[in-house]
Amino acid sequence: MNRVIHWFRRDLRVSDNTALQAAVQRARQVIPLFILEDAFRTGPDVGPARLAFLLQSLEALRKNLAELGHTLIVRRGRSEELLPRLCREFGAEAVFANKRYEPYAQARDSRVFNRLNEAGVGFELFKDAVIWEEQEILTQAGKPFTVYTPYSKAWKARNIPPPRGKLARIQGNQSGLPGFPSEPIPTDPAELGHPLTQSLPAAGERAAMETLRKFMRGPVYQYAAHRNLPAVDGTSQLSPHLRCGTIGIRTILSALAKAREGTNPAQRQSCEVFLNELIWREFYLQVLHNFPHVTKGAFRPEYDALAWSETRDHFQAWCAGMTGYPIVDAAMRCLNATGNMHNRLRMIVAMFLTKDLLIHWQWGERYFMHKLVDGDMAANNGGWQWSAGTGTDAAPYFRIFNPVSQGEKFDPRGEFVRRWVPELVALPDEWIHRPWEAPLAAGANRYPDRIVIHEEQRPKCLAMFSAVKKVT
Ligand SMILES: Cc1cc2nc3c(=O)[nH]c(=O)nc-3n(C[C@H](O)[C@H](O)[C@H](O)COP(=O)(O)OP(=O)(O)OC[C@H]3O[C@@H](n4cnc5c(N)ncnc54)[C@H](O)[C@@H]3O)c2cc1C
Repeated sequence: MNRVIHWFRRDLRVSDNTALQAAVQRARQVIPLFILEDAFRTGPDVGPARLAFLLQSLEALRKNLAELGHTLIVRRGRSEELLPRLCREFGAEAVFANKRYEPYAQARDSRVFNRLNEAGVGFELFKDAVIWEEQEILTQAGKPFTVYTPYSKAWKARNIPPPRGKLARIQGNQSGLPGFPSEPIPTDPAELGHPLTQSLPAAGERAAMETLRKFMRGPVYQYAAHRNLPAVDGTSQLSPHLRCGTIGIRTILSALAKAREGTNPAQRQSCEVFLNELIWREFYLQVLHNFPHVTKGAFRPEYDALAWSETRDHFQAWCAGMTGYPIVDAAMRCLNATGNMHNRLRMIVAMFLTKDLLIHWQWGERYFMHKLVDGDMAANNGGWQWSAGTGTDAAPYFRIFNPVSQGEKFDPRGEFVRRWVPELVALPDEWIHRPWEAPLAAGANRYPDRIVIHEEQRPKCLAMFSAVKKVT
């Protein structure tokens, strides 16, 4: 082929990029393109943190490409309308891109395919974001897995491919492209109608590689012990990069394989636990693809009949971190300020919303998507349905976290709580997770009272679930 467009989407990197590598191998000239779609501004799931992270990652990509002699073209509009026009303008014979798995993205891609097909232009999609796709790992009966453990066993039984190469500096036969006009990359998400109030991690491919190196230099060996402690930097922090594609999954797995070499059994076990988390990501992606109804309701449809509470005051208190439960409030305030929340805390606040406040998991799912820098439809939906007890491999509905004992177990000295709840800074450890028991003089008086009493809500939650179980 003479000229191909590489359409960057959630793969904002020049290394370990499957479609980009294929484009370079098969075409004489490759035009790197990014489309700022209208959906980035108006979609129901848009969040300022994610948008800002994407724009910063895009700017980093533009610079990386420029260092290699390539010019990133940025255009605004609807991809199905723009792409046929751009192919004509650029004289491109095909568009290459890496596959997306969310139902809305797949619907968009099939519209793009039809429009390009009408224009006589090829559209090729490549597996890139995952090691194994939705139809590659199936049960012996040829059905998708709905339970994680057998899925992960089947996942691990196969060989993992190595990272793809890095885009090379432009060669003589690829140069000579005319200068196509490009739009500037907005530096502030406010320009797209979403002002940012959160402080974000560093974006871009280099920051992603540095995050990976830092994790593999030490924390990965302690991951099994530290990953549940929110006060410790014990996890990889790679999720925003995986979400934006500023790092390739094969690159992470190859670094993990190297980190494992010559280690002791405890360190190897820690590496294995980390691998398991990466497999959870693919597990939920295949659930989303194979059971797209999860985006609209419970994986187990009988749970769509649950009589959830609609108490808005409770929901607002949860969002603002004003529930009176320190670990819940610290977690929510951290999310609001940084766009990030530790996995253990995501489970605690999700259980609290659904099992203590008895509020629909979809309210929480939406709020998370609005706030999270790593907000990802598959992982977020999976995490919420797991916590609510309505999902595939869900915690059984009668498993209800106690927010006090969770706090005492995973933040025993209250370090995380004190970081985010200034009202409790002076409170001794003894009461840090149960300030209502502290004497007045202990210093928790400016902190809100509990909006519900966990011990009273638990039976209500069990009754709500068993009402549905009796009917079905
Ligand atoms: C209610 C709820 C909502 C969640 N929403 C999201 C979301 O929108 N986006 C998101 O990426 N993760 C989500 N998770 C999963 C998990 O909390 C985050 O992936 C993790 O906290 C990110 O931090 P890390 O990169 O340091 O993770 P690490 O512990 O270092 O894990 C490495 C990677 O594995 C993947 N991973 C880890 N745990 C999970 C999991 N339970 N499910 C799927 N993938 C996982 C992520 O890609 C992560 O970056 C959610 C979990 C819950 C309980």
